[in-house]
Amino acid sequence: MSRPETSHLFYQTRQRRPVLDQARGVYMWDVDGKRYLDGSSGAMVCNIGHSNPRVLEAMRKQMDKSTFGYRLHFETEPAEHLAAKTASLAPEGLDKVFFVSGGSEAVESAIKLARQNAVAIGEAQRTKVISREPSYHGCTLGALALTGYAPLTAPFEPMMRPMPKIPAPRAYLDGLDPEDEATGHHYADMLEERILAEGPETILAFIVEPVGGASTGALVPPRGYMKRIREICSRYGVLLIHDEVMSGGGRTGKFFAAEHWDVDPDILVISKGFAAGYAPLGAMVAHRDIVANVLDAGGFLHGFTYAGNPLACAAGLAVLEEIERENLCANAAATGTLLKGELTKLMERYSIIGDVRGEGLLLAFELVDDRTTMRPLPRELNAFNHLVDIAYDNGLIIYSRRTRGGYCGDHFLIAPPMISTSGHVAEIIDGLDISLRQLLDRISQ
Ligand code: PLP
Repeated sequence: MSRPETSHLFYQTRQRRPVLDQARGVYMWDVDGKRYLDGSSGAMVCNIGHSNPRVLEAMRKQMDKSTFGYRLHFETEPAEHLAAKTASLAPEGLDKVFFVSGGSEAVESAIKLARQNAVAIGEAQRTKVISREPSYHGCTLGALALTGYAPLTAPFEPMMRPMPKIPAPRAYLDGLDPEDEATGHHYADMLEERILAEGPETILAFIVEPVGGASTGALVPPRGYMKRIREICSRYGVLLIHDEVMSGGGRTGKFFAAEHWDVDPDILVISKGFAAGYAPLGAMVAHRDIVANVLDAGGFLHGFTYAGNPLACAAGLAVLEEIERENLCANAAATGTLLKGELTKLMERYSIIGDVRGEGLLLAFELVDDRTTMRPLPRELNAFNHLVDIAYDNGLIIYSRRTRGGYCGDHFLIAPPMISTSGHVAEIIDGLDISLRQLLDRISQ
């Protein structure tokens, strides 16, 4: 099937990319036969690699039985089993699972469940959700109101309820030591200050990406941050929501990233790696007491037509089984350590790399003009777009998004599938090495 002469598709921009033909493991091929190493697992989605035969077989089996069962008419075995499996992986007490089709839907679900819980327990003044700046929580208007990223939110702000934001703990920009607990407490205490300034009785929840995604570029919280955040939320009856849409699913080396700090939220959301690109799937996982409050008070006023779709759930279940069978969390940790070490070595050769960060296979590096001050590259250089395009031409897919005022902070996510080997790491580093050299040639012209 060739591409039609006129495309009727549209996404964010006019930019066109080659047509995908097939994908296997960590590689993808376009219709002209060019091969790409998927160095970002799509958008940090394809965690177990492409075209896994066991997942495809599980989906085929489910397809032969049914592909849709509306939740008001039927419950389905894949949804039941996936909910049970998810609950077994989630922190103690978070054993109620609500399925959706993606990350934004999961975030919307969490906000609405939190709100209905507040109403159910007689705390109806709680209407504000505090989030961080920068952050990304989704593109629907509710999730967008929590997103701390002005270039995406600005046109919609008059249509959204403004939600309070606190700075994300970017110690590397503020010249603070992320290994020092005082640094973690410094940033976490901003949450308490904000809660007190807004009025604790008005705060419904705080939402945080345990390891940051595209907005902060794989930001790992400083020591002591996550625990202190938990304490502050508990002190003021504020629900803690972990947005594990990107960090969940094993990519950081633990199934849920917050396990690195042994901190449990009240609600968590997961999506991308949950069905790892085999089907659109996400979930909100909530503490059983919250769900009981809401259901006892008359029910959750929320739901999507495709929720718990049996084909998507069969894919999700097979993905989770594959992660366990192949010990992929451990592989993400080990390969991630190797890859991070190699990225750090690139810093010796390229002074424009100002920072390398991340956990497991959720890694990033940031380009700067001056490493000592972390001054960003001048906007006119357009290094940000150039590097993605150059790497793409070199057959390496990396992922990027602008932060720090909409332009500055040119960071690139390096997040290959969790099945990656040391050979793939070497290929990624070679691809980046060549691409960075070409970038320097281009921007020095
Ligand atoms: N939350 C986080 C942390 C994300 O990274 C994303 C997507 O990148 C979302 C929410 C929204 O997910 P989706 O694009 O599936 O709606």
